[in-house]
Amino acid sequence: EASALSRIGLAGLAVMGQNLALNVAEKGFPISVYNRTTSKVDETLDRAHREGQLPLTGHYTPRDFVLSIQRPRSVIILVKAGSPVDQTIAALSEHMSPGDCIIDGGNEWYLNTERRIHEASQKGLLYLGMGVSGGEEGARHGPSLMPGGSFEAYNNIRDILQKVAAQVDDGPCVTYIGEGGSGNFVKMVHNGIEYGDMQLISEAYDVLKHVGGVSNAELAEIFDEWNKGELESFLVEITADIFKVKDEYGEGELVDKILDKTGMKGTGKWTVQQAAELSVAAPTIAASLDCRYLSGLKEEREKAAKVLKEAGLKDEVQNVGVHVDKKRLIDDVRQALYASKICSYAQGMNLLRSKSNEKGWNLNFGELARIWKGGCIIRAVFLDRIKKAYQRNPNLASLVVDPEFAREMVQRQAAWRRVVGLAISAGISTPGMCASLSYFDTYRRARLPANLVQAQRDLFGAHTYERIDRPGSFHTEWTKLA
Ligand code: NAP
Repeated sequence: EASALSRIGLAGLAVMGQNLALNVAEKGFPISVYNRTTSKVDETLDRAHREGQLPLTGHYTPRDFVLSIQRPRSVIILVKAGSPVDQTIAALSEHMSPGDCIIDGGNEWYLNTERRIHEASQKGLLYLGMGVSGGEEGARHGPSLMPGGSFEAYNNIRDILQKVAAQVDDGPCVTYIGEGGSGNFVKMVHNGIEYGDMQLISEAYDVLKHVGGVSNAELAEIFDEWNKGELESFLVEITADIFKVKDEYGEGELVDKILDKTGMKGTGKWTVQQAAELSVAAPTIAASLDCRYLSGLKEEREKAAKVLKEAGLKDEVQNVGVHVDKKRLIDDVRQALYASKICSYAQGMNLLRSKSNEKGWNLNFGELARIWKGGCIIRAVFLDRIKKAYQRNPNLASLVVDPEFAREMVQRQAAWRRVVGLAISAGISTPGMCASLSYFDTYRRARLPANLVQAQRDLFGAHTYERIDRPGSFHTEWTKLA
C-alpha cells in the first residue's frame, strides 16, 4: 500500500552511501536501499537496526528497490564515479517513470553529469549531480551538499537535504548550486582548495620542524593554539590530533613513521586542468598537485638526496635555525599560513567565477562559502569572512582586494616574507606558500615585466603590441633598429 512506500531511495552502499542512508533515515525520512553486491544491503539493514531502529528497508533487485519508493521517485546513487554510474542508471531507470529523479552523489566529472542530464531528459527523468563532502563522518552526521542540475528535482528533496546536511549558525550546509554539472564542478574546486590547504599546513609543519626545531609535542600545542584563532578549522584541528598519536610499533609518534608518499583520486588534477583551460592562474593549487607528484618519486628523491648532498643542506638549515627566535617563527608561520590560504581561496573562487561566466551558472560565491562552513573537509571560521566579502561585493575581482582581506594581507606580509625567505635560505621547499606569495606580488603590481615578453613576441613572431601612451596595435622591425 502507498503508506509503506519510502520517501527516497539510495543505491550504492559503500562507505559514503551506507552512512548517508543512515543519516537520511535518522532524520525521519523512510529510505529504501540497494547495492549490486547484496551483502552490503544486509550490512546496512543491520546498522540501521543497531543504530536506533532507523526507518530503512533493504532491497535486492533494482526493480524491487525502485518500486518501493513513492512517486515522483528520488534515487540517490553513490557508486564509483564513471561507468559504474552509467551502469547503475541503466539498471534503475528501466523501472523508473517520467518525473522521477536521479541524484548522483559521487565525485563525478561535471561533463559526465551534463551528458546524463541530457540522456535522462530523453526518458522524462530529472537529474542532479550533487557534490557530497565530509567523508564518512560527514555522510553519517551532516555533510556539505552541492546539488546542481534540475531545480525541480532539487525542490522534491529540498526538505530532506536541509535536514541531512551539516547545520551551522546561518543554516544548513546545502544550497541549489546551479544548472548542469555545476554541483560537481563546485565540489571539484572544493577538493582543489582542500589540496591547497593540506599542502600549506604541511609546509607550516616542515618549516617549524626543520627550521625551528619544534617537536611533535610542541606542534600539537601550536596547532591546538592556532585552532582557537583565525585559523580555526577542521584541518588544523585534526593536524593537532595527528601529532599526539604514539606509534604502536615503536618509539615516538606515528606521524614520523608514515611514508612520505601521497595518494590522490583526480579531483585536484581536474581543478588544475580546468584552471589552465579557463586561463585562470591557480598557482597554489597547482603547487599542491605538483607536490603530490613529487612525493610519489620516493626512490628518485632518495637518490637525489645523496647526489645533491642532503647533509650539506642540513648544515645550512642548522645555520639558519641558529638565528631563529622560535616564538617569533611560530607566530610568523601562523601569519604566513593564513595569508597563503587567502590567496589559494582567491584562486579557487576566481576559477569558479570564470566557469560560471562561461556556462551561465550564475554561481553565488557567498552562498558557496557559507555551505562550506560545516560538514566538509575545508570547513573553517575563515569561510564566514569569505561569505561576508562576497556579500559586501558580489562582483569582487579577487578576495585579496576585499577591504578586510586586503588589510589582513598587508598586516601579514612582513611575517609571510620572513618565513618564505628563511625557508628558501634553509633549503626547505615551501611551494604552496611561495606560489601564494608570488601570486600576491604579481597581482598587486600595476606594472609587470610583461612588456618585455610582448616585445620578444613581436620581434620573433610579429605578434604586435599595444602601447601605454596611445591607442592601437603596433609592430616594430626590431632587428633593423637594434
Ligand atoms: P567507492 O569505493 O567509490 O565505490 C564502491 C561502490 O560502487 C560500491 O557500492 C560498489 O558496489 C559500487 N560499484 C562499483 N562498480 C559498480 C558497477 N559497475 N555497478 C554497480 N555498482 C558498482 O565508494 P565510496 O567511497 O562510498 O564513494 C562513492 C562516491 O562518493 C565516489 O564517487 C567517491 O569519489 C565519492 N566520495 C567519497 C568520499 C569518501 O570519503 N570516500 C567523500 C566524498 C565523495 P559493489 O559493492 O557491488 O562492488
